[in-house]
Amino acid sequence: MLNASLPLTELHRHLDGNIRPNTIWELSQKNGLAIGAKSPKDVADLVYIKDKTSDLLAFLEKLDTGIGMLATLDDCRRVAYENVEDAFNEGLDYVELRFSPLYMARTHNLPTVDVVDAVIDGINQGTKNFPVRCQLIGILSRTFGVQSCAKELAALLSHKDSLCGLDLAGDELNFPAEQFRALFAQARDVGWNITVHAGEAAGPESIWDAINLLGAQRIGHGVAAIRDNKLMDYLAKHHIGIEACPTSNFQTGTVENTAQHPLKTFLSRGIAVTLSTDDPGVSAIDIQHEYKVAAEVIGLNKKALSQIQINGVEQSFTTEDEKRALYALARAR
Ligand SMILES: [Zn+2]
Repeated sequence: MLNASLPLTELHRHLDGNIRPNTIWELSQKNGLAIGAKSPKDVADLVYIKDKTSDLLAFLEKLDTGIGMLATLDDCRRVAYENVEDAFNEGLDYVELRFSPLYMARTHNLPTVDVVDAVIDGINQGTKNFPVRCQLIGILSRTFGVQSCAKELAALLSHKDSLCGLDLAGDELNFPAEQFRALFAQARDVGWNITVHAGEAAGPESIWDAINLLGAQRIGHGVAAIRDNKLMDYLAKHHIGIEACPTSNFQTGTVENTAQHPLKTFLSRGIAVTLSTDDPGVSAIDIQHEYKVAAEVIGLNKKALSQIQINGVEQSFTTEDEKRALYALARAR
């Protein structure tokens, strides 16, 4: 299914949405925190989404269990480190991991700036031990409102050279892009790349706003683009990629069933679709699973799957040199 002579990348994975059940269990024990589970297996039963949730917000609530266990900076460091290990174990050559430091910090009142520092440290330790190329994207959690996002951005900007981009995530319906214009202008001013969750809970207009108001170069999910021909043409023409996450889109109720995911249409219209897991720690999936779903459930052929792998390199927020290095690495195996 995967083309081994092409790089395997993932561009849309929340490291704070990928905390291992075993780690959640161990942190609950270490930190003396009640969790409503008696074993690591119980934790898996608690956090994994079995079928689907009612909507995006119910899906996001599933992440709170793991986040609630982050009582120290070391815990944040550990989660970041393990994300690099997971990416390596899944066979990824390159991964962009994203995180919301405010979300990670807030249960136990950790200093947001220090959380950013701890995550970067965990990633650096991880990439020393596991040969996978890794970049970090900062998230503004729109659900907490513009003022909190301004503080979150300041914390991220204090480590600006360690991050490659900025994202907007959370409650898309109630916190539209318009409110975050000034913050994304700041991010663009320091040279960061921009990706935005859009067209997941809201319609095509939310994708237009992500592009026109925030300067999005990629769109997280983007499912609603299927309802707007002009938008699909625009995405293709301007090489604005769609980070498709089919299992997540099913679980949030964004698509009725996975077979109806629009990624096949997006590809046929020349949009640079990539494949990602989103929050593998609650969806109980890995990147291989998403390729399997794309092939067996959505019906993509080998050529389309290879195109997705190429899109994953071309759409990555990395240098042309690094892209060439990734292709060379894959060709050599
Ligand atoms: Zn996401």
